[in-house]
Amino acid sequence: MASLTTTLDHYEVWFLTGSQNLYGAETLRQVAEQSREIARALDTSSDVPVKVVWKPVLKDSESIRRAALDANADDHVIGLIAWMHTFSPAKMWISGLDALTKPLLHLHTQANVELPWAEIDFDFMNLNQAAHGDREFGYIQTRLGVTRKTVVGHVSNPAVSGSIGSWTRAAAGWAASRSMKLARFGDNMRFVAVTEGDKTEAELRFGVQVNTWPVNELAEAVQSTTDAAIDTLVAEYDDLYDVVPELRKGGTRHESLRYGAAIELGLKSFLEAGDFDAFTTSFEDLGALRQLPGLAVQRLMAQGYGFGAEGDWKTSVLVRVANVMGSGLPGGASLMEDYTYDLTPGAELILGAHMLEVSPSLTSERPSLEIHPLGIGGREDPVRLVFNADPGPAVVVAMSDMRDRFRLVANVVEVVQPTAALPNLPVGRAVWRPEPDFATSAAAWLTAGAAHHTVMSTAVGIEVFQDFAEIARTELLVIDKTTTQRDFLREVRWNQAYYRLAQGL
Ligand code: MN
Repeated sequence: MASLTTTLDHYEVWFLTGSQNLYGAETLRQVAEQSREIARALDTSSDVPVKVVWKPVLKDSESIRRAALDANADDHVIGLIAWMHTFSPAKMWISGLDALTKPLLHLHTQANVELPWAEIDFDFMNLNQAAHGDREFGYIQTRLGVTRKTVVGHVSNPAVSGSIGSWTRAAAGWAASRSMKLARFGDNMRFVAVTEGDKTEAELRFGVQVNTWPVNELAEAVQSTTDAAIDTLVAEYDDLYDVVPELRKGGTRHESLRYGAAIELGLKSFLEAGDFDAFTTSFEDLGALRQLPGLAVQRLMAQGYGFGAEGDWKTSVLVRVANVMGSGLPGGASLMEDYTYDLTPGAELILGAHMLEVSPSLTSERPSLEIHPLGIGGREDPVRLVFNADPGPAVVVAMSDMRDRFRLVANVVEVVQPTAALPNLPVGRAVWRPEPDFATSAAAWLTAGAAHHTVMSTAVGIEVFQDFAEIARTELLVIDKTTTQRDFLREVRWNQAYYRLAQGL
């Protein structure tokens, strides 16, 4: 039994420097010193959210293979950064790269920014030759089919540290995915196609264990919560939210709020007891639960758990991964659903929400805690947090099972203030403008067979999801400002061939 970890403090990446014995002790001493400096610059960069650990310079096949095996075996190590300061003959890297199971970033850099034109001699050239040492390394990685991110430039350049930081976040998401345990309460919503998928394949591809528990085991956990614990949690709600008078102590519907708190306590204790990181619910299978979990789900997502509604475990995985990747950054991640449109020509908007379950991590406003009837589910009126997602850049990402693989589809969007108040829509909601424009975005989304459920992330952007998809070797179709319908359709068709070939014939 353990509480959920969403921070990145316990993760590290190793910094590997390639060289060889040809250069002699003095040059190798400088290689070590300068590569240590670069590792230190990354370690202390605010862009890089994990520890960067410098490793002694690698000069032969056996030490390279050993470094890869040690990285594989250490759960704290989420990836390797490799740089060929000098020339490291790349056959030395074959067995190590072949053994490596952790994400790899190839940093193409050098110790100096400017060339010392007046002083430069051949000693300098021999020491600072990543320009061709890294080309040798690029060749062997490509020849071996090694998936990696390539980042080019000096570490003092914010574009470089930013790009490395994005990759470390993606690698952390990957580590979280590899160890994820997801509890499904109830099955898939009846007759729905896109929320289905191959759970066995998902465990191989993403590492996530997806299994089902009877919802009445959750109902028992809810039932066994204590009045004292409920009192404490209700007091916390009073601190954090504008609780409507009818739900407050002495209010006519205070008991409904206490039951909402009991759901949160029961759900959390169940998840902690099973070491779960993510879960799903189903409004068609609520057992003895008296309300559809709304408030509880919203708050658990904001604490870092993954969640998908209607049995949607694939979106739940994405919400959990996005919560880890965005750890420590402003903004958050949530289940989202494309619901309805404003089709005003030239000013089209998408209104996203769910029945109840949108994470308050998307807002910096103080949510209001309310109770309203819910036509779906046939239970008592559920308590829920009501708010607007903050305006700003965001990304929505969906996962579909395409029979022979999983497909991720992402749209870069801009969350905007709702055009007017929404007094009759008491849920967490987001209004956004998709890139490149509404018609292209929606047509591309439909062409890709992307889902109506997504994770919306306002903490990390498209680069982190791209890095995650590369690490996971999973197709990602991106809809952004460069997208045209014609090129997108071609990409979908070409990918169909590529991803089948890439799996082997
Ligand atoms: Mn839904």
